[in-house]
Amino acid sequence: MAKMYYEKDCDLSYLNGKKIAIIGYGSQGHAHALNLKDSGCDVCVGLRQGSKNWAEAESHGLKVMTVADAAKWGDIVMMLINDEVQADVYKKDIAPNLVEGNALAFAHGFNIRYQQIVPPAGVDVFMAAPKGPGHTVRSTYVAGKGVPCLVAVEQNATGNAYKIALAYIAGIGGARAGVMETTFHDETETDLFGEQTVLCGGVVDLMQCGFETLVEAGYEPENAYFECIHEMKLIIDLINKGGVGMMNFSISDTAEYGEYVSGPRVLPHEEIKKNMRAVLSDIQDGTFAGKWIAENKNGRTFFNSMRANLAKHQMEVVGGELRKNMIWGDDQDMDTASK
Ligand code: NDP
Ligand code: MG
Ligand code: MG
Repeated sequence: MAKMYYEKDCDLSYLNGKKIAIIGYGSQGHAHALNLKDSGCDVCVGLRQGSKNWAEAESHGLKVMTVADAAKWGDIVMMLINDEVQADVYKKDIAPNLVEGNALAFAHGFNIRYQQIVPPAGVDVFMAAPKGPGHTVRSTYVAGKGVPCLVAVEQNATGNAYKIALAYIAGIGGARAGVMETTFHDETETDLFGEQTVLCGGVVDLMQCGFETLVEAGYEPENAYFECIHEMKLIIDLINKGGVGMMNFSISDTAEYGEYVSGPRVLPHEEIKKNMRAVLSDIQDGTFAGKWIAENKNGRTFFNSMRANLAKHQMEVVGGELRKNMIWGDDQDMDTASK
């Protein structure tokens, strides 16, 4: 069983007198910076010159500096910029400003796991990884709750790296929900696997296949959107709340019977798991990471064309029209207004 920590296991005083530099002010960056500030920590935000977020962070009452100045100022430097640019920014602006006894922190292990960033020996290296989007990290904190987090220590140079990491997670509200101990190795591999096979890759392709099957058979695209895409969230909300049991309790017995007979027909388990093991193997041996790093070096031709094609797909166009009339209060989570 994984080791779990809660607020009682975390001592915020490990952040006393420590300056925390949050590099980036996007989804995670704004949430970490604002939550830590509200928890009484000494925080600044590090951004590139000309960043559209510079004035925004200042308007939220935060000190803002260039990335290099923030790295120099901070005792704890949290990397909350896109994973694919972290290595270059680290080499140019962070590494020259790290001194012995500092901590370098991450919300995802990619660059450490695949050795894109190799920190110096005298520095603590820890992970504080919320298991949820940054806007939820902020909105739950404000509501007195939190998003569960993963904690990991790659280098414990000061001997206090775990205490500091747990204090940091308490500061962003994560310890209210629970903190699971892991390693950079496991976090990176499971995170990549989950998003590729189930959460993003799996779900989007499943919905797309369902939508296309109905439309190709002559049904209205709006109907296909409601059935195969819109309802996904309603079903997932039930599973999130009470497991598959609660979903089955809530849906009709006809739907539950269909689940048992047609689910494995659409997704034959042995074949699907064979495909998933192949994806996992590419993650474990670095094949996926190598491709993603190369894609970024080569101008993202494949990535950009996939993104453009998806935006034109009928399920996105029809969904966009239908959603205009379905804007409820909870959609504000994604709004910049919630920063
Ligand atoms: P975002 O894309 O939301 O934010 C990116 C930030 O990085 C922006 O402030 C941007 O600056 C800055 N940035 C980008 N390129 C550069 C550069 N070359 N130099 C300086 N600053 C740059 O990132 P996320 O919050 O999504 O991700 C941050 C980290 O958190 C990643 O490691 C990710 O894996 C991890 N994570 C993300 C989750 C999420 O829900 N999004 C969940 C858990 C972990 P500018 O303001 O100038 O545009
Ligand atoms: Mg991920
Ligand atoms: Mg993830």
